[in-house]
Amino acid sequence: MNGPRKLYVKSFGCQMNVYDSRRMADTLAPRGYVETAVADNADLIILNTCHIREKAAEKVYSELGRIRRMKETAQAEGRRLVVAVAGCVAQAEGKEIIRRAPAVDLVFGPQSYHRLPDLLARAERDGKAVDTEFPVDDKFDHLAAPSQAVIRARGVCAFVTVQEGCDKFCTFCVVPYTRGAEISRPVSKILAEVEHLAAAGVREISLIGQNVNAYHGEGPDGQPWSMARLLERIARMNGIDRLRYTTSHPRDMDDDLIAAHRDLPKVMPHLHLPVQSGSDRVLAAMNRRHTRADYLDVVARLRAARGDLALTSDFIVGFPGETESDFAATLSLIDEIGYAGAFSFKYSARPGTPGADMENQVAEEVKSERLHRLQASIDRSQAAFNRRCLGRTFEVLFERPGRHDGQIVGRSPYLQLVQVEAPASLIGETADVTITDIARNSLFGTLAHAPVREPAQLGAGA
Ligand code: SF4
Repeated sequence: MNGPRKLYVKSFGCQMNVYDSRRMADTLAPRGYVETAVADNADLIILNTCHIREKAAEKVYSELGRIRRMKETAQAEGRRLVVAVAGCVAQAEGKEIIRRAPAVDLVFGPQSYHRLPDLLARAERDGKAVDTEFPVDDKFDHLAAPSQAVIRARGVCAFVTVQEGCDKFCTFCVVPYTRGAEISRPVSKILAEVEHLAAAGVREISLIGQNVNAYHGEGPDGQPWSMARLLERIARMNGIDRLRYTTSHPRDMDDDLIAAHRDLPKVMPHLHLPVQSGSDRVLAAMNRRHTRADYLDVVARLRAARGDLALTSDFIVGFPGETESDFAATLSLIDEIGYAGAFSFKYSARPGTPGADMENQVAEEVKSERLHRLQASIDRSQAAFNRRCLGRTFEVLFERPGRHDGQIVGRSPYLQLVQVEAPASLIGETADVTITDIARNSLFGTLAHAPVREPAQLGAGA
């Protein structure tokens, strides 16, 4: 081999995809691939796609149009550029991608990442390769672990996948079709990965999964462990100071998990809890399996357990049949909860989902107008939450240099970005910061005192 080959991975969508992209790079590293931030000089381009956002497939095809021209340039220069499409669009579209975009050499779904080296060899040998099977083996077992140097370069916060897929079948969502049935990873595998990350200096772990709080992986005792039990076990590990988990379904917030927010100081006081709509009629049509009252009850119990809990959520406007009064119920829910932030989208039909076949689709202009009002309401709620942080002092975990010299950036316990004038030597450390100013998407603060890492701050000892 003549030196390392360059790999460019572009991730679309959620944190699961960012994590998966990293694991693809880790799987290819032993085969001589190094990551590059520039697509133009790559030998292998992987688009790791997401099917959740509007017009996802069309965005991928337009990106592939640009990549086709890069491939032609590479060919003219006597280089081979291999183009791969991964993720949920790959899973949903399969061979159709190669038919519509002949520049693509390889299409593979989320269950095939560990077979990437073999698939590449197949594409190089046979010209094209497609793998969108749901295999029975556990892909997590076969994914390569990143080296300690790679983990250190990625910073002090890391994602760990603990479950994948979903059995809920919300009528707007493709996940149960593209990622398959819910699978939880065994506890021992998760602990080994967290230990490996902690040894490289990772301080904050986000446990991720499409329906993460439905976690029920096999514990060392052979019994299924809940998310609460998993958090409690990881909280006892040395080196890890902060724990988060995302994305949760309201129905799976059980009493033990709510109590974990009260009892485990390392579990950060922030929860992303999608609700999608504030109207019972729409929630039923979405097959969310919970009502507005159920959601409010979960929130009340969470806040009783942890008074300062920040909540964020996801909303869909213009789901088929949504009336103005359904939409008003969503706006009133936002006021009632007081979110620290939220993602909001116009409903867009995903082929193959029940929502796509519903007859009472909402007109595009109505959806746009409602989205505008919804976002204004979320912005007001977020601004009010941020204003309540003014003058408060809390611990910030610094992750990277800021945009200006002498500035560093970290995350508050509530996941807000916090910018502070402080020495770069604090990156990777936590320090108490007093919030002195707020902007739309970040807070500004000053160090309250020098950073301290007393053993007592690490929570329950191992
Ligand atoms: S719970 Fe989440 S991942 Fe599962 S079907 Fe509903 S929206 Fe999709």
